[in-house]
Amino acid sequence: MLSSESITLAVHQPTGKILHIDQALNGLACECICLQCEERFEAIQGKKRRKHFRHYSNTNCGGGLETALHQLAKQILMESREISLPRYGKVIYQNPISEKSFKEIIPDVSVELIDGTQVFFEVYHKHKIESKKELFFKTGQHKSIEIDMKNCPVESYREIQDFVINQTTNKRIIFWELPSNPSSQNTEGSYVVAKLIAYLPILLIALRILFPRQFKTLWRSIFS
Ligand SMILES: [Zn+2]
Repeated sequence: MLSSESITLAVHQPTGKILHIDQALNGLACECICLQCEERFEAIQGKKRRKHFRHYSNTNCGGGLETALHQLAKQILMESREISLPRYGKVIYQNPISEKSFKEIIPDVSVELIDGTQVFFEVYHKHKIESKKELFFKTGQHKSIEIDMKNCPVESYREIQDFVINQTTNKRIIFWELPSNPSSQNTEGSYVVAKLIAYLPILLIALRILFPRQFKTLWRSIFS
């Protein structure tokens, strides 16, 4: 159960965006409401206590922090142009769109790589993406990433941003590419060639010992 002092995210009414307490003005000037009950929030910025949002009226509302965090993660993806992925490292993207339907599903955030390839992000807190969506991405071979917000720190905006963009242990590649892609075949090919070159002198010596006469004739025919 979240304590009332742990509400660090709110809806900024004028913009409709999720605001972290770090970014808010003090008191009612924050112009924020609770995502869950839509009650007005006061930003409590005092130095003695942890900064947090407080409902202006007495309520038992928990503040909808999980939903707000989910929204904020999408917002951060929308505002960024790069993300670190497991296995593939930093990826640059463009044209992010939130909740835009794609065939029969609605991905949380859709982006494009520089070459125009589409990539889809799914953000979750408790419930992993539905198997239907997972199957859709895999069978359709759509580049897709799942981001797990479960262990995200909510004390500062920077930490949340770092968690979404730079951390990789909280991400899972749903689909990226088929295992037998041309680039991996290329590396296998060059590995075989490198091995052959490394063993060539030994092979030549062996041939010279086993077939001295033929070797000499062959050597002359090549180098004279
Ligand atoms: Zn509330």
